[in-house]
Amino acid sequence: MKLQTNVDLYRKLPSVDELQRNPELAALAAREGHIAVTDAARAVLASLRKEIAAGRLAADGVDLALSGLEDAVARQLRQALKHSLQSVINATGVILHTNLGRAPLSAAALEHIREIAGSYSNLELDLETGERGKRDVHVDRLFRKLLEERVGTAAPGLPGEHSVGAGVLARALEPTISTIVVNNNAAAVLLALNTLAENGEVIVSRGELVEIGGSFRIPDVMAKSNAILREVGTTNRTRIADYAKAINEQTRLLLRVHRSNFQITGFTEQAQIEELVGLARQRNIPLLEDLGSGALFDLRSVGVNRESSVLDGLRQGVDVVTYSGDKLLGGPQAGLLSGRSDLIARMRSNSLFRALRADKLTYAALEATLLAYVKGEHDAIPAVGMMRLSKEEIGRRAEAVAKKLQSSRLTVEVVDGESVIGGGAAPSSTLPTRVLAISAEGTSADELSRRLRVWDTPVIARVEEGRVLLDLRTVFPEQDEIVAQSINRVFER
Ligand SMILES: *Cc1c(COP(=O)(O)O)cnc(C)c1O
Repeated sequence: MKLQTNVDLYRKLPSVDELQRNPELAALAAREGHIAVTDAARAVLASLRKEIAAGRLAADGVDLALSGLEDAVARQLRQALKHSLQSVINATGVILHTNLGRAPLSAAALEHIREIAGSYSNLELDLETGERGKRDVHVDRLFRKLLEERVGTAAPGLPGEHSVGAGVLARALEPTISTIVVNNNAAAVLLALNTLAENGEVIVSRGELVEIGGSFRIPDVMAKSNAILREVGTTNRTRIADYAKAINEQTRLLLRVHRSNFQITGFTEQAQIEELVGLARQRNIPLLEDLGSGALFDLRSVGVNRESSVLDGLRQGVDVVTYSGDKLLGGPQAGLLSGRSDLIARMRSNSLFRALRADKLTYAALEATLLAYVKGEHDAIPAVGMMRLSKEEIGRRAEAVAKKLQSSRLTVEVVDGESVIGGGAAPSSTLPTRVLAISAEGTSADELSRRLRVWDTPVIARVEEGRVLLDLRTVFPEQDEIVAQSINRVFER
């Protein structure tokens, strides 16, 4: 019976050809192109067929749908021609939010991307000699300024050939610290493991076999790199003696992984980085540290004390550190490998490097971001600037937005809260802030936050204890007005 009815319903639907002869749609096709309009018409008809098949459309429903078919096609077309990837306002207070694209780029980075992307460039051309150049030179020189000079002066104790005693001359001839760029930090770890430990063993603490969001798991990356994982210690306690005992003739590398997104508390012990450096030197095995976030500025300046920066790692004597470009560094998605030049050179000549390399847009954005660090213009880097905002300033902006909210159905308060650095940095580190806490009579907080999210300019908020929380730390000041308008419009309905 039902099958019979459905066939009747399907018959009511026009063919794509018939639809195209419809004058309104023909006019649309003349403006927007025949292919796009045909595609949209097909999609609308297919979705009607699906509704009929699912038994969700009866005869009168089909008639109704047919009467609005031209509008439906036009709507479908608008949707199809819209960008799916769009900008949103991040009012979550999570500065490096992976789902929201992590670090926003600085104005200088955007400008440099625009300049380089829209024309030819000297990406791999040495303008002096006219010969083929390396793309890494564009950022390596800046990393050297930020890392090598500072490691050199502050820590006269780099190992062996890198010690300052032997090194003053050596450094003049050859850099001691180099940096290369790959697609992301996952790629950086893969490249480092494959280069330094293929077919050999890598010693890692059981307390550091982490999984980072999006299925980056240390044991899996290890397997893909063809290195053999040698776990030592226990989940909560690993001592330096555990590493020492595990070293054998197959050992190629000691690995330390930042516990980016979790903490182990209670009865715990982790080998100190100094102890690992000592052991690595004594046994002549390289030490790799996956920093994850890798800040290029001192986080202690914003009250975050337990997070080591790229410079800290290298000063302590770690041979190579890996970190992301779009976490605490505040630049584009990239994976950075910084460390001993001889080891970095081996990674550069690995054929995997070619497969994992970054594109010119990444280099452009990274170069401009690094220049801001070199010039000491930290606040020009949005993610860094947001970290440095004071609670008082955020509170003043929140009060100003609160004053603009008009609906009598709204209860609005500005209260103390906590911003989160995110991006796997300092899982326990939060920054004190002031948040707008909003609730509305007759509308749940989840529904409220959904409406803000599907608005023209999506505003992404947090929901806590039945209220919508908006933290302006991660909102650009020029967006405060849009946030106020969005909330007001959502409540006009
Ligand atoms: C974030 C993170 C990664 C992955 O970095 P991507 O740049 O996202 O590939 C790897 N290791 C650690 C410790 C991290 O925090």
